[in-house]
Formats: sequence, C-alpha cells, structure tokens
Amino acid sequence: MILIDGKKAAAELRAELKEEVAELKSKHNKVPGLTVILIGDLTPSQIYVRNKEKSANEVGLKSEVIKYPDSIEEKTVLEKIQELNSDETVSGILVQLPLPKHIDKQKVIEAIDPSKDVDGFHPMNVGNLSSGYESSIPCTPLGCYLLIKKIEPNLSGKKAVVVGRSNLNGKPMTQLLLKENCTVTITHSKTKDLKAECLEADIIVAAVGIPELVRGDWVKKDAIVIDVGINKTDNGIVGDVHFDEVSKNAKALTPVPGGVGPMTIACLLKNTIDCFKRSQI
Ligand code: NAD
Repeated sequence: MILIDGKKAAAELRAELKEEVAELKSKHNKVPGLTVILIGDLTPSQIYVRNKEKSANEVGLKSEVIKYPDSIEEKTVLEKIQELNSDETVSGILVQLPLPKHIDKQKVIEAIDPSKDVDGFHPMNVGNLSSGYESSIPCTPLGCYLLIKKIEPNLSGKKAVVVGRSNLNGKPMTQLLLKENCTVTITHSKTKDLKAECLEADIIVAAVGIPELVRGDWVKKDAIVIDVGINKTDNGIVGDVHFDEVSKNAKALTPVPGGVGPMTIACLLKNTIDCFKRSQI
C-alpha cells in the first residue's frame, strides 16, 4: 500500500511555488500578496491563519492579516473587502470562516472580487469550475486532486465516489474529477447504501466529518482513498476513513494527520500566485 505523504507533497509544492515567486519578482518587480481577514478569537481559526501567514512568508509572498473583534459590524468588513478589491498590491483575499452569526457569510463571499477569491467560494468561480473554465479552485479539493494525480496521472474512465456534498469539499471535488473524465458518484447523508457505492470505486474521497466511517470492507482492492476528515476523538485526531482496515485493501491512502491537511495551505499559496499571474496578463 502506498502511504500518500501529504507533508512531503506539500513541501515539494511550496518549493516549486517559492521558485515561481522569485521568477515573478524578477519579471514584474513585485510579488503576489495575500490578505487574510480574521474575525473573532476562535482558536482553530487563529492557528489556521498563523500557519497560512507563515507558509506565505516562506514562499516569498507578501502577506497581511487583518484582525477584527467578534463584535465588528458587517458593514466594516464589507468596506474593507472593497478597499482590498481595488488595492493592486493584494492578489488574493481570504476571509477566514466560520464568521460570527451576525455577519452574512454569503454576502462576504460575494463581496470579494472573483479574480482575488483565493478560496474559490465566489459563485462566479463555482460556476466557472462547473463549466470547466479557468477559476480559483477551493484549496482542500485542489490538494486532494493533486495527490490523486501523483498516484494515477490518467484518471480517464475511472469510477470515483465522493462521500459528502459540501460546497467546501464534496461538490468542487466532484467537478475536478469530472474534468478528468472520471465517472463520478456523489454520495451524502441520504445515500441509501454507501458501502455498495464505495465498493464500486477506483477512487474514494471521503469528506464527511464522521470518524472512521469508511471501513475496510467498503473498499475495492487497489482503490485510491483520500481522507479529508479531521475528527477529534478520545483517541486523538482521526479521519473519515478507518485507516488500519482500509490500508489492508487500498492501493494508496492518505493518513490523518499528514495527508490532505498540509496540501490545503500549499494550495492556498498556489491560488494566490495564480490570481497574481492572471492579473498580469
Ligand atoms: P460538512 O459538514 O459541510 O459536510 C459533510 C457532508 O457529509 C454533507 O454533505 C453530508 O451530506 C455528508 N454526510 C453526513 N453524514 C453522512 C453519512 N452518514 N454518509 C454519507 N455522507 C454523510 O463538512 P465539510 O466542511 O465538507 O468537512 C468534512 C470533513 O473534512 C470534516 O471532518 C472537516 O473537519 C474536514 N476538513 C478537512 C480539511 C483539510 O484541510 N483536511 C478542510 C476542510 C474540512
């Protein structure tokens, strides 16, 4: 079984991106800039944002974090986004989710200029991705996609099952696999026989949030299994896939932690650089 090393893949991607930033700097005399808006003091969000900033600096991006208290008015956030939209030194804008209840998430997402939407959540990018056009792609599914392609460069005709249909993970993942000519089944909480669906799959991507949902006897021999889940349990962090059982059947499997997670931030940096490149054309 191939243990898909997300840490290593992310480090390789960051090294490539660092070179790319250096080339862009010498060509344009400026570097891509990422601005993150962080609202409130939720610890996980603070940790994510700190890691994003650290990684951005590591590859040579200009990075900025704007922090607001929980009580900030929606209007102030929307005005700041407008300001960043017209700031030429800002290539990518990310508003860290979740937001406090009084702030309308969709309004915030739609306020971001689609060409600076490094999360790929703006309806324009969602539409472009589903139409097969160039777009920003949500970072976690993009990371999954890059890991799958490392194992199997030609996905044409493969059967893929995506477990979970969130806008963040399942839906964009489906679009990426479709674009690669996979036959894709998207499954969710109302799917009648999830095990039977998974047993058909050459590729399984699990993005559910239920610890160890996908069991060993759900997985065909030689399937590629990507585990997006991050679940806190009494036994520590586990994924949506039962690692010990599935590793006996699968051809390749991502561990949790150390699989998809590290790729997510690396893909955010990639998206920022891609936004910059598109803005220079
Ligand atoms: P979500 O809650 O938005 O969506 C979960 C999806 O799972 C839903 O579409 C739901 O229909 C489906 N589902 C629920 N119960 C099911 C069941 N019994 N069988 C089949 N499908 C079922 O979750 P999300 O935001 O997509 O996140 C999913 C997981 O991925 C979480 O554990 C989250 O922490 C993790 N995550 C990891 C990363 C990363 O970087 N690795 C990034 C984002 C999210």
